[in-house]
Amino acid sequence: MRSKSHIAVIGAGAFGGWTALHLLRRSARVTLIDAWGPGNSRSSSGGETRIIRGTYGPSQPYSKMAARALQLWNEYEQQWGHRLLHRNGVLWMVTSDDDQFERSSLPMLREAGIAYEELSRAEVGRRWPQINVEDVRWAIHEPQSGFLKARVACQMVTKGFIAEGGEYRNTAVLTGELESIKPGLGLKLSDGSKLAADQYVFACGPWLGKLFPETIGNRILPTRQDVFFFGTPPGDDRFSASKLPVWADHRHRFIYGIPAADGCEFKIADDTRGPEFDPTLGERTVSEEGFKRLRDYMAYRFPAMKGAPLVETRVCQYENTADNHLMIDRHPAAGNVWLVGGGSGHGFKHGPVVGEIVAELVMERKDAEPMFRLERFRPASA
Ligand SMILES: Cc1cc2nc3c(=O)[nH]c(=O)nc-3n(C[C@H](O)[C@H](O)[C@H](O)COP(=O)(O)OP(=O)(O)OC[C@H]3O[C@@H](n4cnc5c(N)ncnc54)[C@H](O)[C@@H]3O)c2cc1C
Repeated sequence: MRSKSHIAVIGAGAFGGWTALHLLRRSARVTLIDAWGPGNSRSSSGGETRIIRGTYGPSQPYSKMAARALQLWNEYEQQWGHRLLHRNGVLWMVTSDDDQFERSSLPMLREAGIAYEELSRAEVGRRWPQINVEDVRWAIHEPQSGFLKARVACQMVTKGFIAEGGEYRNTAVLTGELESIKPGLGLKLSDGSKLAADQYVFACGPWLGKLFPETIGNRILPTRQDVFFFGTPPGDDRFSASKLPVWADHRHRFIYGIPAADGCEFKIADDTRGPEFDPTLGERTVSEEGFKRLRDYMAYRFPAMKGAPLVETRVCQYENTADNHLMIDRHPAAGNVWLVGGGSGHGFKHGPVVGEIVAELVMERKDAEPMFRLERFRPASA
């Protein structure tokens, strides 16, 4: 009898965890390892929540991926008996004169089969009087989209993976020499052991550039992103997920928020890329300037939240590629090494779909889609 193919997946975040689970379901033997655990506070998948939406602009694969992801999140949360997806809707407010992004999102949503409605300013104001709509021209509302539990989802995926026979180890791959992995020699781990597999999937988020300095380097650039949680008035549910959708305002800056739910308060963040950030050693203290800007914005957009106290903060990092597209490809010098990352501030929702895609590529030895490959970063003349 042929022995099962052994795949090592390094990184148990949104991309690695789901990849490991899907590989297992394709009958591989899978070892998943993580330096600090699934959804840890340093990882890009850490923290409480992430948005899932299909509004993505023109000519992109992400609306369809989000549609498939909504289906998979739904299936898996039912299987695990743990709610991970909150479908309280996503409201995308158009406040700029230029609504090309939103207009061109509509056919993509239609094609993907994601439910949406176009709302006038008056309708937005009527449905959600807690929003100041004076500068809102129109809006896209995706009633079946919403938000996901982030850290908990990563933990559930790893738990599901172990329950289905996967091996999980809390250890780190040592950096250095990874650019020249020799099949059979294995990876050196921080616990002193070695891990040899037939194929390796590195899904190390913002750490990928340091692990593969020549192949990736600053093609994945981690940037600091501040997240603020403001306290809602006592007993007032106007700013909770039962009364307010996830919202986004795509004007000079892309500001977004998730209403209070499950003991987590009113979340608000600015998608503008922050300064470069070291995911291992960076101190996670938010900037005073970011705090003031978002508190002022909140007072304008949600007048009843004016003066609300800041109750929690988080510093996370995006792992950005130059074009904000994902990176899924083989290492150019080692056909059995896969590099998966580049979520660029929007990757979490796609985790189950990225897992499906990567598992198929690895098990069927296929090539990745050109738009996700590394070669797109090389100069045309190279
Ligand atoms: C503030 C913020 C808001 C976001 N909002 C959204 C959103 O609303 N919707 C959305 O879809 N996406 C969002 N994203 C993006 C999304 O969260 C990320 O793209 C996604 O979580 C990346 O997952 P990953 O698995 O690639 O990386 P990670 O989650 O960082 O996972 C990498 C893992 O690798 C491990 N690791 C690293 N080095 C080693 C090593 N040497 N050995 C072993 N293990 C190692 C780490 O411990 C980590 O667990 C947001 C991100 C941030 C920071």
